[in-house]
Amino acid sequence: MSRPAGVPLVHVSVNRIVAEGKDVKTFVLEPAPGSASRRIAYRAGQFLTLRLPVGTDTPVMRSYSISTCPVSDPRLAVTVKDNPGGSGANWLYEKAVPGMTLEALPPTGQFTLDESESDVLLFAAGLGITPLYSLCKYALAASGRKVRLHYSGRRRDTIPFVDALADLERAHQARMRLDLRMTGSEGRLDAATVQDVVTAMNSPTVYVCGPPAYQAMVVDAVLAAGRPPASIRTDSSGRPPLTR
Ligand SMILES: Cc1cc2nc3c(=O)[nH]c(=O)nc-3n(C[C@H](O)[C@H](O)[C@H](O)COP(=O)(O)OP(=O)(O)OC[C@H]3O[C@@H](n4cnc5c(N)ncnc54)[C@H](O)[C@@H]3O)c2cc1C
Repeated sequence: MSRPAGVPLVHVSVNRIVAEGKDVKTFVLEPAPGSASRRIAYRAGQFLTLRLPVGTDTPVMRSYSISTCPVSDPRLAVTVKDNPGGSGANWLYEKAVPGMTLEALPPTGQFTLDESESDVLLFAAGLGITPLYSLCKYALAASGRKVRLHYSGRRRDTIPFVDALADLERAHQARMRLDLRMTGSEGRLDAATVQDVVTAMNSPTVYVCGPPAYQAMVVDAVLAAGRPPASIRTDSSGRPPLTR
């Protein structure tokens, strides 16, 4: 991604780095010392683009979905899958340390919670969980809407946020339901299951994030279950799936 003309960069500091299962880390960020604001403004579901000083004079721009909630989390964080052969993620894994200042484009993106009062149904696969974790926390913290999250990943110990999501479900028993599907032992999600989940809810707005084939299957199944296209939101950022 190249830097859009006219958009000023902001400076963010790495507050801390948290390991999330295998090959995934969360980078907690805050305004750099001297910034005018004490918080980085963003909406749940948006992404942040970091300008990473990979090499001596060739910074790269890499976008990462925000995994935190602007209402319930004190700081913004992005969650990044390790990518040893790539440049940006590899740089973050090897060079980023707490206290380091980075340049970024301000958070942006349209994959945000709609204004309605309808139920919220979230379908995530692999690292597609990042913006949906943000939306899930936001819907619970800032609305009275029912939330159901269907989350597919290869194995429980390799995918991020499972324990935090289980805690969230316990804390919001009347409003949240978490369905985990471990594809390594249970196989991939199928259209019939998607339709069952959709029809069990009250005219939900549906958010889908994962690999392209997963997104296409879920969207087709939601449409087949009778939901109109306007009730379906996808994030087509092309993020890499968690494959292990
Ligand atoms: C809106 C948006 C949101 C995103 N959210 C997230 C997120 O939440 N978390 C996340 O981890 N990622 C996310 N991504 C993806 C992220 O921006 C990066 O694309 C990803 O981390 C890979 O970037 P990289 O610089 O590490 O790899 P790159 O250097 O871009 O390389 C990509 C792939 O190409 C291969 N490659 C590179 N150079 C060569 C070569 N010369 N020959 C052969 N193969 C090569 C690499 O091995 C790697 O597999 C998002 C992307 C977008 C657009």
